[in-house]
Amino acid sequence: MTSDLIIENLDVHYGGVRALTNLTVTVRAGTCTTLLGANGAGKTSALRGIGGLIRASGTVTLGGRRLDGKSAARRAGAGLGHVLEGRHVFPGLTVAENIAVARRRAPRETRRDPLELLPELRSHLDRPAGGLSGGQQQMLAIARAIAGGPRAVMLDEPTNGLSPKLVARTIEIIAELRDLGYAVLLVEQRLEVAQELGSDVVVLRHGETAHRGSGTDPALPDLLHSMYLS
Ligand code: ATP
Repeated sequence: MTSDLIIENLDVHYGGVRALTNLTVTVRAGTCTTLLGANGAGKTSALRGIGGLIRASGTVTLGGRRLDGKSAARRAGAGLGHVLEGRHVFPGLTVAENIAVARRRAPRETRRDPLELLPELRSHLDRPAGGLSGGQQQMLAIARAIAGGPRAVMLDEPTNGLSPKLVARTIEIIAELRDLGYAVLLVEQRLEVAQELGSDVVVLRHGETAHRGSGTDPALPDLLHSMYLS
């Protein structure tokens, strides 16, 4: 089942402040695209607009179905998985309960056991999520997105605050998601993540698309450096 995620002309405003202008990006099933940019460039606003968590104009199409205009819950139900910035898990529920809650609405055809992808969670199933380390909570947040039976997965700075070992593991998991056929839309500040994934990149600057290309383009580090500093 192929489910491309297609975003066209997405705009996000906060009152009079324009946070994102005219973002157009196609993420094919089985590929990864990374939104890069400095703090405040509009990356999180893009994901939240696509996910329906904030008001945005433009179109969002997943597997041929238009999602714009639908609530965040309807978009999730249609297969748009979203791993929010800051690892949203239910701290009072156990790991197993967190996964079970997310799995409740998973459509049969996209249902998948997240523990196959994240076996490191198996030994923590009975622990309250609030007692897990930051890295473990990040794994659980990804597991919850997979448990929801998505067709596409968006992840907002999943490597933020993790040790180098866990950054490497997170990259491995994202590569596996991509290779399983999900369309993966990633937000990152670290170029290394896009480079290691060999991902396409879209660089945002003040909400505008300043560059698009491949994460492995040798000219990209200098380009980003000049953009972040200017
Ligand atoms: P970061 O990496 O710091 O999260 P970002 O690239 O994700 O940055 P956004 O968080 O999307 O950027 O912010 C884009 C712009 O929108 C910034 O100018 C920010 O100050 C503004 N902004 C973000 N959230 C709000 C909000 N709730 N109300 C008003 N302005 C906001």
